[in-house]
Amino acid sequence: MAGIYIHIPFCVKKCPYCDFTSYVTRAEDFGVYTEAVSAEALLRCGDVKELEFDTIYIGGGTPSLFPAGLVARILETIKYNFNFSKSWSKLEISIEANPDSLTPDWLETVRRLGVNRLSIGGQDFSKKGLEFLERPHSVQDTIETISIARDAGFESISLDLMFGIPGQSVSDLEKTLETACSCLCQHISCYELTVEPGTMLALRVESGDVIMPSEDLLSEMTDLAEAYLESQGLKQYEISNFALEGHECRHNLNYWANGQYVGLGCSAVSYIHGIRSRNTPSLADYVRMASEGQSAATFSESLDELAMLRETVVLGLRTNRGVSVSGLVERFGMDIKEFYGDRLKRLVQAGFMIEHGDRISLSRKGRRIANSVLSELV
Ligand code: SF4
Repeated sequence: MAGIYIHIPFCVKKCPYCDFTSYVTRAEDFGVYTEAVSAEALLRCGDVKELEFDTIYIGGGTPSLFPAGLVARILETIKYNFNFSKSWSKLEISIEANPDSLTPDWLETVRRLGVNRLSIGGQDFSKKGLEFLERPHSVQDTIETISIARDAGFESISLDLMFGIPGQSVSDLEKTLETACSCLCQHISCYELTVEPGTMLALRVESGDVIMPSEDLLSEMTDLAEAYLESQGLKQYEISNFALEGHECRHNLNYWANGQYVGLGCSAVSYIHGIRSRNTPSLADYVRMASEGQSAATFSESLDELAMLRETVVLGLRTNRGVSVSGLVERFGMDIKEFYGDRLKRLVQAGFMIEHGDRISLSRKGRRIANSVLSELV
């Protein structure tokens, strides 16, 4: 498996909790940015001639702000310059969209381009939650967006939800989950709202203006989300991701398998031939570098075999399937039970991890404190 990620770093406004690379939209940037991404695609395709790609993911930012004609320009450059494992119509091609910036025409056009998976940033189905998050859309906008996406021919729709929003109660979350499931999406990503350093939310929390929910409340919400989504047939396959069978995001599964990917665009990360690199987060620098035919990467590191093994374990353990001991021996020539020794044994004995046949995964208890458990294995 290998994937291509394209970053569209434009948003209507900056959400107070967001630490992704995004710039408040200036329509005049769209054309130059499209040409820069196309130039970068032409530069990078030569390095990955031997790879066959299976998935394309257009994320952001807010890709639905980007005119469909420019999405077409980028996708065409990719289509004719990278190798794919199957025909274009059989690839998984995802695009992120926000309910405030979508039109039926845009949806129909991107669907015709081959985009077959839509990821909608709904976040919450309560007025109070959306106001806290300062999202520029309403509950009704999200419901209507899902409906017009279905009419436009999208058979795989994913919805992003957040929990742990200050002021949100367990019963508020329950109502949000009920509404989300009544929209009949095939995939739901349900994330805890986290306070990222340097964001407006972090400043408000630091100043005492906002109080984040307690660990106990978060734990109750996590239990509720898992139980409710599972009861609706959406099977948990990663800490924050739930899907009907066959609708798991293959692009993200490749990340969690520590597979290779090319990232195009401002701040995009690539992982190819054991080298991880990241493009400059500066829009102006990215456009200049890519347009001049230079690499836009301003950071890169080469991972040795041990670092790759550790990353493969830590990423794989985020998924409910966990990692295969024999698969890792085949890939790295190393048995992780010997490699981690007592550390792994202790985590299993303490009930944070479970062994099932050839596989090792996080237990339910381990998933609750996944970051701490996984930090033991880094
Ligand atoms: S819309 Fe998404 S990417 Fe844009 S600022 Fe808000 S959270 Fe960040």
